[in-house]
Amino acid sequence: MLIVQKFGGSSVADAAKIERVARIIAETYRDGNEVVVVLSAQGDTTDDLLAKAAEINPDASKRELDMLLSTGEQISIALMAMALEKMGLPVVSLTAWQIGLKTDCEHTKARIRRISTERLRRELDKRRIVLVAGFQGIDQFDDVTTLGRGGSDTTAVAIAAVLHADKCQIYTDVEGVYTADPRKVDGARKLDEITFDEMLELASLGAQVLHNRSVEMAKRYSVNLEVLSSYVKKPGTIVKEVVKQVEQMKISGIAKDCNVTRIAIVGIPDEPGKAFKVFMVLAKAKINVDIILQSVGKDHTNDISFTVASSDSQAAYDVISEYKDVIGFESISMDEDIAKVSIVGAGMISCPGIAAMMFEALSNAEINIKMISTSEIKVSVLIEERLADTAVQAIHKKFFSN
Ligand code: ADP
Ligand code: ASP
Ligand code: MG
Repeated sequence: MLIVQKFGGSSVADAAKIERVARIIAETYRDGNEVVVVLSAQGDTTDDLLAKAAEINPDASKRELDMLLSTGEQISIALMAMALEKMGLPVVSLTAWQIGLKTDCEHTKARIRRISTERLRRELDKRRIVLVAGFQGIDQFDDVTTLGRGGSDTTAVAIAAVLHADKCQIYTDVEGVYTADPRKVDGARKLDEITFDEMLELASLGAQVLHNRSVEMAKRYSVNLEVLSSYVKKPGTIVKEVVKQVEQMKISGIAKDCNVTRIAIVGIPDEPGKAFKVFMVLAKAKINVDIILQSVGKDHTNDISFTVASSDSQAAYDVISEYKDVIGFESISMDEDIAKVSIVGAGMISCPGIAAMMFEALSNAEINIKMISTSEIKVSVLIEERLADTAVQAIHKKFFSN
């Protein structure tokens, strides 16, 4: 079999952990498999590098940030190669450039365009264990890019897709995908299986256990994907197209995202074309808008509020303010102290009352809802950020207490 294994930052944080992971890789190889391993930077390396950059230049260009951030993963593959060499195993470590992993030019959030299989195949044919630096890529100008925080998962799935791997295993510091973050929520349950669609929602709504693009890609290329623990040897969670329905489960999981800002524009004239202007300005600035709410204001005006990722909030505020006269609104304000809490479940469309259960849990916990948004498989609410953990715990209890 050809197996792609990815190990996250905490799994390779120090020498002892590297040696433990090396034993997992060695066992897979000795069982007769072809093995490609994708590694993340050790422990908090990426955060530390970001802090170092901020010390020198808080406005550093994204190109130079990528040059810096990509180094973390390179350290990991070299150290892991040394651990495997010590065990007498044939191994080679390779950067994104060396395997022809090409991306677009969007520094710090680049998308993978293609991966050349030639070098990877050649090394596997020599019966070598191939170690690849996750998270990094090369754009059309041969500049280093990175795929966004958590992006090593996407490197692994993309490699599994191009090599038609039999399996892609994402090893991490928990035993799989849970009904909520097991580090924050008492009683969170491990799921044996979850659908690509539900996992994609959970990942996009804040469950960082998998990078959302990795799930998107696994679905598109039908990659056989599993999330499992690098500490205990037991089956994890299989992410796949269709799963067996667990009768008593009304939803699959709950996610929280504190990286959300609400922007409110007050006093927009109630005329055709105004909403278009607001969102066109944001689209031109490449800002993704999430939940949108329009409400009736005073004297034939409307108020529009919407949410954006906190990293885009200042840019959104600035660009809308710049067009104040063209749009013709009265005032604009920004609220950073909010969080989005969401429930996800493919079955909710055919099961009435799921949203009501969520709102009841919030009401019992005396948590006020500021905005609501729904789709076929999710319900999200915006609430005060300081209440987010309490909200997740309350909702979890409501849905999973027996
Ligand atoms: P890695 O370094 O291995 O990539 P991450 O920190 O990116 O690990 O992702 C694993 C973490 O995701 C877990 O430690 C857990 O706290 C968090 N997490 C959030 N939501 C979930 C969930 N629903 N199931 C499992 N883990 C979750
Ligand atoms: N090291 C990168 C990060 O911390 C990528 C990853 O861990 O997947 O975001
Ligand atoms: Mg991760």
